[in-house]
This record gives sequence, C-alpha cells and structure tokens, in this order.
Amino acid sequence: MKDNRQNSNKTTSFIEPRRVLVTGGAGFLGSHLCRELVARGAEVICMDNFFTGHKRNIQDLHTHPDFELIRHDIVNPIFLEVDQIYNLACPASPVHYQYNPVKTIKTSVMGTINMLGLAKRVKARMLQASTSEVYGDPQVHPQPEDYWGHVNPVGVRSCYDEGKRCAETLCFDYYRQNQVEIKVARIFNTYGPNMDLNDGRVISNFVTQALEGKPLTIYGDGNQTRSFCYIDDMVQGLIKFMETPADITGPLNLGNPEEITILTLAQKIIELSESNSQIEHQAPPPDDPARRQPEIELARSVLHWQPRVSLEMGLEKTIAYFSNLLAPYS
Ligand code: NAD
Ligand code: UDP
Repeated sequence: MKDNRQNSNKTTSFIEPRRVLVTGGAGFLGSHLCRELVARGAEVICMDNFFTGHKRNIQDLHTHPDFELIRHDIVNPIFLEVDQIYNLACPASPVHYQYNPVKTIKTSVMGTINMLGLAKRVKARMLQASTSEVYGDPQVHPQPEDYWGHVNPVGVRSCYDEGKRCAETLCFDYYRQNQVEIKVARIFNTYGPNMDLNDGRVISNFVTQALEGKPLTIYGDGNQTRSFCYIDDMVQGLIKFMETPADITGPLNLGNPEEITILTLAQKIIELSESNSQIEHQAPPPDDPARRQPEIELARSVLHWQPRVSLEMGLEKTIAYFSNLLAPYS
C-alpha cells in the first residue's frame, strides 16, 4: 500500500474538552472508539442495550473518571447534554440483524430520529454509522459515494440496508430542515479484536473455526469479494471525519480498498493460524452481495486519511486476540 507520510492517522489530543455520546459503545466498533476518545481527553458516555455488545469490551474503562456507561435502548428518547454523538447502535452482523428484523429497522429509524432530535435540542454534532450495505449488491465497482445502490427493498437483508438508507435520509433532512450538523460515514467491512465469538461475520467465524480445527464454512463458491479494514484505521477515520468543518456532511466511504475473495480469505486465515482445518462449502445466503470495494478518494482528500494496516497484519492481531479468548476452552 502507498506510504504517504503526510497522511498521518496518528492519535492527537483534542484541543478543547468534549462531551461525547457513543451509542452502541459496548459493541465491537464502539468499544474501540470509546477507548480512543477517552485517550484523547474526551468525556465519554457509552450507551448500549447490550443486544450484541458486552460490558467486557469496555471493562478497562469502567473506572476511568471520564467514562460513563448507560444501559439504554435508543428506540426510546433520552435527554443528555453532549457536544457530539456517534450513533453506532445497531446490530451489524447479518445473523444478528436478521434475528429480529423489525427491531433492527426500529433501531435505525426510530433510534436515529431520537438521536437527531437530541442533537437538534442540545446543538450537538452527529456522526451516523452508515454502511456499504446502502449500495446493496452493487452494479458499479468499486463503489463511489455518488452511486445510489442496488438494494432489494423486500429481502432478508432489507431491514438493515433500508433501515440504514432511511437513517441517512433522516440525517440529511434534519440537516436541511433543522441545521443539525451531520457526518454520514459509510463504513465498509471492519474487523479486529472485540468482535464477538458468536458474531457470525466472516472473519470471526473463520478465525475461530481455524483455531478450533473445524472446517471453514464458505457460503457459496467463495468467489464473492469483500474489502476488510482493520479496526484501528476505522476509528481514526471516524474521529477525523467528526472533526471536519460543519459543511462537510458526507456521505463519505471509510474502508480499506484491498479487495479479496472469501475463498482466498479462508486460505489466508488457515495459513496464518497454522491450522489443519479444511474448507466446507455451504449454501449462499439470499441477496449476498457479489462484490464490494470502497472508493476512498474523498476520505483521502478531505480527511487526509487512508488505511495503514495491511490485511495480513490485521489478521495476525485478530488471530492472537481470538487465540487468547479461546485458550481457557482448549
Ligand atoms: P456490534 O453489533 O458489535 O455493535 C453494535 C452495538 O449496538 C452493540 O453493542 C449493541 O448491543 C448495540 N445496540 C444494538 N441495538 C441497540 C439499541 N436499539 N439501543 C442501544 N444499543 C443498541 O456491531 P459493530 O460492528 O460494532 O457496528 C457498529 C455500527 O457500525 C453499526 O451501526 C453498524 O451498522 C456499523 N457498521 C459496522 C460495520 C462493520 O464491519 N463492523 C460495517 C458497516 C457499518
Ligand atoms: N461468509 C462465509 N462464511 C461465513 C460467514 C460469512 O462465507 O461463515 C461470507 C458471506 O456470505 C459474505 C461474506 O462472507 O459473502 C461477508 O459476510 P459477513 O457476514 O462478514 O458480512 P457482509 O459483508 O455480508 O455483511
């Protein structure tokens, strides 16, 4: 990957103190974000209903004087005094968001209305965790922000895809109608430590299967592609985006453009974890996008951001994390 030393992703402290609300803060992405925000000197309120998140993800932060945890479901309104809101609350794994699809839509639609309403009342800025799923099964490759997508509105993924698309609409309507400062980040597949063992997403599945010597379950022929971004890069991108001037709203893609087939990913994980696991093909899930790769020129130019961690480096760290987690069971 090109090394551009001007485009540094490195951590810096905030100049002014900030009160920051992170919804979904006990989840995979949210827990890393809370930790980084606290490290930069922010006062962080982590809000979660613990549907897929866990207290253990933020265990080290519980005693920090600038960290507070609130058990709350964003589908219900709440009043808090904050300067910034990162709205991350929503299950992200297809297994979890399809478990209770109506709840998934409520979280994206009613939850986002509640958070935008809060942002409006207290004049906070809000970053919405949108997704590459707004592009559906894309017919344009790689996906730029001005591509409107190819989404099945009535399929099993629609509760998530259409919920997130509606959340984007809400952000822009609150921006136009109520002058709420918004940042719409379209996050592409992100992975790393703190992913749940039973999350159901491909990297956590493959890594645990490889470490346990079980077959790696490839859905379909494995020729479908994804582009995986390591968590540390994503957190830096999200914070950089939040700190941009008010007229920068997005939508903005954040992800690693290194595209890989699911079959090659499985082989790489077997190799890196020195596993004897075999590969087992299973039926493909409905509406599984065939290809996905972010176009990140906007993030490069506006945020001076680009991913730093190669897939190999990120996978090594992730394998080490899961290996540690599984150690008591082996
Ligand atoms: P995650 O499932 O690990 O975290 C989601 C968190 O939100 C969990 O802690 C969960 O308990 C909480 N939550 C869910 N519904 C809630 C509700 N109604 N009220 C309060 N809390 C609720 O998923 P993640 O990977 O950390 O994803 C975080 C956000 O980023 C999500 O909005 C997701 O759509 C978005 N995103 C993630 C990825 C990715 O690859 N990780 C890609 C695209 C978008
Ligand atoms: N996948 C797979 N085996 C698994 C889990 C997922 O082959 O055990 C595939 C899935 O069908 C998809 C890709 O891996 O093509 C990424 O799936 P994931 O659920 O991680 O995220 P998505 O990008 O589909 O939301």
